[in-house]
Amino acid sequence: MPQSGPFVIPAAALRKVSGTTRRVRASGRIDDLALLGVAVPAGADVAVDVTLSSYPGGVMAVGSVSAPWEGECRRCGEPVLGVVEVPVHERYLVRGPGAVPDRTGAPDRPDGPDEDAYPLEGDLLDLEPLARDAVLLELPLAPVCRPGCRGLCPQCGADLNSGPCACAEPVDPRWAALDALRDGEGGGLP
Ligand SMILES: [Zn+2]
Ligand SMILES: [Zn+2]
Repeated sequence: MPQSGPFVIPAAALRKVSGTTRRVRASGRIDDLALLGVAVPAGADVAVDVTLSSYPGGVMAVGSVSAPWEGECRRCGEPVLGVVEVPVHERYLVRGPGAVPDRTGAPDRPDGPDEDAYPLEGDLLDLEPLARDAVLLELPLAPVCRPGCRGLCPQCGADLNSGPCACAEPVDPRWAALDALRDGEGGGLP
């Protein structure tokens, strides 16, 4: 675990008295936040806004994580931008030396009830893994540029949002016959 950085929070004062709460806002860059072509832009910050509250053996973090993302419309390929705002409700638990001995009897038991908690090491708490997990879970898997995007023509690749392409209405003899009928019906009218 890093010893400093925008997401590393000193938690000694918080943990001194159980039940202490503190609001923390942190923001910074997190590398490699990407999933199937949707990514948090390289220069963009992820923001964490949580209230930390201590309890015996751990710290609870409740609040939200937000980050901008960019991707391509799954239908037409145009760039799409968005923002995820993810509610978080996570625990940090003391691991290793300093762990509360009677918490589970086996603090590192992988299948224990605390396997999804984040580690609290020494007096430092790192919000980055929490922020990373929250954003990755929330990035859209198939973003679209707008709800009614028509996408690209599968034949010629034209963007159907800017109008029908040449192959949009294939010449079909049946249609031609209908057109002929229609012309015939309308023939006698002004
Ligand atoms: Zn689109
Ligand atoms: Zn086409």
